[in-house]
Amino acid sequence: MTHPIHIAFFGECMIELSGLPLKKGFGGDTLNTALYLSRLTQRTPLSVSYATGLGKDALSQQLIEAWQQEGINTSLVEQYSDKLPGLYMVETDPQGERSFMYWRDSAAVKSYFLNAELSKLEQAMKQGRVDAVYLSGISLAILSDVCKKRLIDALSDFSQAGGQVMFDNNFRPQLWTSEQAKYWYGQLLPLVDIALITEDDDQLVWGADESVEQRSVRLGCKETVIKRGCEPCKVIWQQGGETHHAYVSAEQVANVVDTCAAGDSFAAGYLAARLNGQSAEAAAALGHQLASTVIQFSGAIIPKSEMAHLTLS
Ligand code: ADP
Repeated sequence: MTHPIHIAFFGECMIELSGLPLKKGFGGDTLNTALYLSRLTQRTPLSVSYATGLGKDALSQQLIEAWQQEGINTSLVEQYSDKLPGLYMVETDPQGERSFMYWRDSAAVKSYFLNAELSKLEQAMKQGRVDAVYLSGISLAILSDVCKKRLIDALSDFSQAGGQVMFDNNFRPQLWTSEQAKYWYGQLLPLVDIALITEDDDQLVWGADESVEQRSVRLGCKETVIKRGCEPCKVIWQQGGETHHAYVSAEQVANVVDTCAAGDSFAAGYLAARLNGQSAEAAAALGHQLASTVIQFSGAIIPKSEMAHLTLS
């Protein structure tokens, strides 16, 4: 694999309200991965950008500043004066069960590919200023069909020009149907260099007739990681004209506190190692190490100090 030096993430990060009294935070699958990747690669030549839509309000500004403090490049963020970021609230019942409510239908990110002019991400891809683009099923689901097509067309040109496309299949049935997801995943997967696939989500979208691996090979995905919670993940990659496989065991965790962002952090560990030239097995091991650390804390983003033991060897 070539050695990308600039990876841009596209997706939605929302304001999070949780706890009593209510506290403000932020969260979103692609942002979680970008943030953990940025933390893991501070001392490497890799640079991490987050491309999204925000408003020009104080909360949007706070998000941008928080991301910059994590070392994330925010030059691909589009800000709209008539829009606000999406919002979600976490309610915890007396038994400790959490429920989530979302206000995201009119979130600023939906405008990202709406204007006639190219967005900052499209310009960066066209001008060769990014080497890799990462998106998830949620990044696609939140866009109108016209915008989904525009993004996939841009990724197709980018891929043909040598850019790398990375995809996490996070499927949220609240945002679209499995039929819709199947169609759009089918459009995107042939462009994908690294696919991070949660097996449960995959089955919800595609059913059980074809395995993830068969589909990956059929659609021409160059590298696929199949995640299965505490079970070993399976990595399938093409090298020297041959297909290779490996199973990599997850870490044992005695006390799982919150599996929020398990897959997002796994992706960050995997990419940190892979984009720094390590083997697929070493990358999966770092993905497991980070994910197993993250699930021992409450919330998506754990304190940076708790990641001190994780290094790129
Ligand atoms: P997602 O969060 O995308 O649904 P998974 O549940 O498959 O994905 O979890 C992603 C990764 O998180 C796993 O590959 C593993 O590294 C880690 N993980 C999740 N659950 C556990 C667990 N119970 N014990 C150890 N590791 C876990």
